[in-house]
Amino acid sequence: MLLRLRSISSSSANAGENPAEFEPLFELARELGYRTRFLDRERLVLELTRQAGDAGGPADRSRFEDLGCVVSVLDASDAPELTSRTAERGDTVVHIGSTAFGGGSIGLIAGPCAVEDPADLLEIARAVRAAGATVLRGGAFKPRTSPHSFQGGGVDALAALADAREFTGLSIVTEVLDPRDVERVASVADALQIGSRSMSNAALLAEVGATQKPILLKRGLAATAREFLLAAEYVLAAGNPNVILCERGIRGFDNVTRNVLDLGTVAHLKTATHLPVVVDPSHAAGRPDLIAPLAKAGIAVGADGLIIEVHPRPASVHSDGAQAIAPSVFAEIVKSVSALARLEGKIVAAPRASEPSGTTKPREAEETAP
Ligand code: PEP
Ligand code: MN
Repeated sequence: MLLRLRSISSSSANAGENPAEFEPLFELARELGYRTRFLDRERLVLELTRQAGDAGGPADRSRFEDLGCVVSVLDASDAPELTSRTAERGDTVVHIGSTAFGGGSIGLIAGPCAVEDPADLLEIARAVRAAGATVLRGGAFKPRTSPHSFQGGGVDALAALADAREFTGLSIVTEVLDPRDVERVASVADALQIGSRSMSNAALLAEVGATQKPILLKRGLAATAREFLLAAEYVLAAGNPNVILCERGIRGFDNVTRNVLDLGTVAHLKTATHLPVVVDPSHAAGRPDLIAPLAKAGIAVGADGLIIEVHPRPASVHSDGAQAIAPSVFAEIVKSVSALARLEGKIVAAPRASEPSGTTKPREAEETAP
């Protein structure tokens, strides 16, 4: 492990020669069985090594990082965290229902931002399924910026999602906001979404980590790649290995797009972690005309899937209508993405051959019929 240290001694030139200053670090290194050696005294780069075959655990890294004299860990390849890609840990493939994300398989998730109307949801589900999506998205509990905005349809919306799955065979991903709702949402959803605003909620991460449901973890609005991976680390450390990371754009200074889709970090994550990474062009762009180019760019940099907001009548919705694309546009995106996937030697996870039988009418219509 390589550490960059900071000195508080007045003369920085020979700071590294004052071992007393770094005694807490040397003491911890001795306690954990590491030998120490300055690789660069002027820049205070310290190398920590263990006996051959004696691998350090991820907790060691955190303990060193917590010391006041440690600025950063420059290399921790010998103390990998649970999310780290190592020579032994290749791509993890995470399944939502029967759809594989990672390992050369690209999963396509599409649907409305929020479940607002069951009939609309079913119409959208059928349209995105026909276009090639195999997972339906739709928020029942919505993390709105204002407490006065529409907060989602709650349990009724969950029931509508379950119906849409029954009628189309699509798997369901929906957001859970509150640790107290995890069980209830998990009883319906095939995958749980942790939204950007919740990425740092350790209690919620631990709670979803206690399930075995796939977790679609969205990057925080201003989270670094490392903070993003540590949020995933919480879920893995709680016992759930099924995490899909989602880059959805980070805060920038320009409002031509809603957020800045950080494709460099998508490429970085593919080298840093074995977990699958999907791209959400909808919340990044915030406008329909840029969804197709950003979706294609995401696949080009190595994303294992896409999550896209689709609505045939975006003017009628309460949540994120401004960025929804028409089903026909989504269908064009699927064609382009399939061609790109072939170029990369990957496949787009295919929908089942037909809708489940005997399910031509929405249950809601049956229940409300006189
Ligand atoms: C969403 O998926 O509708 C959503 C609220 O996303 P994010 O958490 O990325 O803002
Ligand atoms: Mn949305």
